[in-house]
Amino acid sequence: MSQNAIEIRNLRKTYRGMKGAPAKEALKGVDLDIPKGAIFGLLGPNGAGKSTMINILAGLVVKSSGTVRIWGFDQDQNPRQSRAAIGVMPQELNLDPFFSPRGALEVQAGLYGVPKAQRKSDEILEMVGLTDKAEAYARTLSGGMRRRLLLGKALVHDPHILVLDEPTAGVDIELRQMLWSNIRRLNEETGMTIILTTHYLEEAEEMCDEIAIINHGELVARDSTTNLLGRLDTRTLVIEPAEAIPALPDLDGITAEIRADGTLALTYHAKEKDAGDVLEALRDAGLRIRDIRTEQADLEDVFLELTAAPR
Ligand code: ADP
Ligand code: MG
Repeated sequence: MSQNAIEIRNLRKTYRGMKGAPAKEALKGVDLDIPKGAIFGLLGPNGAGKSTMINILAGLVVKSSGTVRIWGFDQDQNPRQSRAAIGVMPQELNLDPFFSPRGALEVQAGLYGVPKAQRKSDEILEMVGLTDKAEAYARTLSGGMRRRLLLGKALVHDPHILVLDEPTAGVDIELRQMLWSNIRRLNEETGMTIILTTHYLEEAEEMCDEIAIINHGELVARDSTTNLLGRLDTRTLVIEPAEAIPALPDLDGITAEIRADGTLALTYHAKEKDAGDVLEALRDAGLRIRDIRTEQADLEDVFLELTAAPR
């Protein structure tokens, strides 16, 4: 049995243009493996193709070509099994306004053929904090409650894989915390594979073990979060000088900048130099140091570098 929860090969999607609009190639031949048990982040700017990919996994969008295996089941050859392995919380808040949260969970369980005796509506309502709203009309629920209900709906059939499309876009901090602790717990306690898209890079950095970055329908990076962060070659040392600096020192291969707070930021390439070289150059320039710290590149730097328009 494969160690991958998801295997995507040469996945393409072209949306036909409606009413004379040109066709849109949203996915241009993507290959991607997502390991079992991971919290996996799919990142990319708006329009990159993230939702298209996720909706294909969910069976909500029909791919143009390529193969998708979900938990070992080919989506075309074993549609029922592959569908049963995955639960999706969509980006749009599409809920039937006339169902209560309990009703919506029951209908969803019915759609997935979960026998009544095996349904866990109460448990799910409790987990997403909707127990006291169990019988309220969905149209009376706040945006945050709807989002939690959508998470609950994705879980009714106990899927191996949970996919969340921008789960925390536009939600308040409290709800975000709640969603994240739920997701972490599902991953830790049940080993559920989690795939999420987000444009909060900080969140991906904190939550995800592995990350794929997609841009204009193509995969531009796929690595562990740690490796992606380590990939950036630029390093910055920030020096607090012992006395005011009269002029910028001229240091070979090091970019120096005096910041508004009086510190001196020194940027260099790790391939060419190390911090010791930088300090030596400073000593040679006669600069005395009171304090020193390093600045790490974050995911945002990596992301910008990989998705920047070619110049
Ligand atoms: P993301 O989720 O990364 O923001 P999407 O997958 O939603 O990106 O969209 C990828 C591209 O496909 C965009 O250019 C978008 O306008 C286009 N697109 C998405 N859905 C449709 C659709 N139903 N019909 C036509 N074009 C679409
Ligand atoms: Mg999207």
